[in-house]
Amino acid sequence: MKNWWFVRGLKKGILTEESPKDIAEWSTEIEGKGDVVCPTNAIENEKWIKERCIFCRLCYPNYRPNLNPRIYTIKSINTFFKKSFYLYPIDSGTCGGCNLELKLISAPQYDMTRFGIFFTNTPRHADALVVMGILTEKMREVLEKAYDAMPEPKLVILLGTCAVSGGILGEKIPLDSVVEIPGCPPNPYTILEALREVKGK
Ligand code: SF4
Ligand code: SF4
Repeated sequence: MKNWWFVRGLKKGILTEESPKDIAEWSTEIEGKGDVVCPTNAIENEKWIKERCIFCRLCYPNYRPNLNPRIYTIKSINTFFKKSFYLYPIDSGTCGGCNLELKLISAPQYDMTRFGIFFTNTPRHADALVVMGILTEKMREVLEKAYDAMPEPKLVILLGTCAVSGGILGEKIPLDSVVEIPGCPPNPYTILEALREVKGK
């Protein structure tokens, strides 16, 4: 019945959740000990490297999720965006997974607009470029043009393991980023938490 959150919400008059009741287990930190077969070398010396993990579960049961969903890295906080934060999402070579999870933060369950976070259809109105997917040759110039078109101050957010490290088959996005949100794909709760933090809550 958990997918009927919106019906329950309407009945109780609750439209959004303060924090999610269920977080997808395999989108949280991974911990463990022992030998692993990891296709992306995301475990070295028994240390989990979040930027490389594609959550394929080949390391299970030696390594398993610890349910901490805060797997993002914020390099600096920009309180200039505290009142409103406009995102321009761009797909440089995804499977579609990251796009779906990013879109979900605008759904009533997460409702990013209550935190002053919005999508924009043009880089000219954007505070942050949200790049998803590996770098594909034909998108290299598009990415540069979108970034150049944004007004200052501006920042880059890399969303998903493909963008952060190149994932299993690609090249990472060669733009200086202020936020990295690994995960394959990251869950909406993780994305929203990272966005709220970087804009200055
Ligand atoms: S889930 Fe897959 S990619 Fe992540 S650490 Fe385990 S084996 Fe490596
Ligand atoms: S990180 Fe995973 S979900 Fe996101 S684009 Fe890459 S393969 Fe797809």
